[in-house]
Amino acid sequence: MFGPPGAGKGTQAVRLARMWAIPHISTGALLREAVRAETPLGLEVKAIMAGGGLVDDTLITRVVQERLGQSDTKPGFLLDGYPRTVAQAQSLDAFMTGAAGPPGSAPRDPLVVVELFVPEEEVLRRLAARMVCSECGANAQDDKDFSSCSNCGGQVVPRVDDAEEVVRKRMDVYRRQTEPLVEYYGQRPTFRKVNGDKLADEVTAAIVAAVDDAIR
Ligand code: ADP
Ligand code: ZN
Repeated sequence: MFGPPGAGKGTQAVRLARMWAIPHISTGALLREAVRAETPLGLEVKAIMAGGGLVDDTLITRVVQERLGQSDTKPGFLLDGYPRTVAQAQSLDAFMTGAAGPPGSAPRDPLVVVELFVPEEEVLRRLAARMVCSECGANAQDDKDFSSCSNCGGQVVPRVDDAEEVVRKRMDVYRRQTEPLVEYYGQRPTFRKVNGDKLADEVTAAIVAAVDDAIR
C-alpha cells in the first residue's frame, strides 16, 4: 500500500492486518523503533528521517527482505511504506518471484498494490493534527482523550517529522520519488486506486473490496 504522508496508510494497515491475520510491516515504524532503540540502523537513519528525506534504497530493502524472511509472513503480509521508489518496487518484484532469494526460493506472488489517494489540503490538515504515542508509536488521532495512548498508556506527542517545513519536504519527496509508482504499476491487473478521503470505516471497506477484486 502506498500513498502520500497522512493518507491513512498506517491506520488502515493496522485494521486490515488484524482482519486478514497477517503481519503489518511498516517501514516507518521499523525505522522509528530503530531510532528509539539507538541501534546502528537507527543512528544511521535518524537525521534523514527527521528531515523528511528517504533512507537509502539498498538499506531499506535489506531491512524489509530480512523481515519478510521471517516465517510469520508465510500466509501473506501487508507492506506499509514500502516500496517508496521505483528502485524499491523493482527489488520487491524480484523478491516476490523468488529471484531475489537463494536459488530455489519460492515465489510469494501475487503482489496486490493499492494506492491510497487523498487531496493535498486534506493531507496537510491531517498531519497538522496528528498525535502519536511516544512509547509505541501508535496514531492517537481517533482518541477522544489526547492525554495518553489507548494502546499502551504512553504519552501522546506530535511526530517530529510532522513539523510544517518537514511535511512540505515529505510531500515534495513523495511527488518526485513515490508517485512514479502509479505509472510503474499502472498496467498491472492487481493494481487498485482507493480514495482515502472518506471515513476510516468506508476506506477500510473500499480497500477490502479492491483487494478481493484484484485477486479474484
Ligand atoms: P509517512 O508515510 O507518514 O511519510 P512513514 O512512517 O511511512 O511516514 O515513514 C517515515 C519516514 O521513514 C520517511 O519520511 C522516510 O524517511 C523513512 N522511510 C520509511 N519507509 C521508507 C522507504 N521505503 N524508503 C526510504 N525511506 C523510508
Ligand atoms: Zn502507545
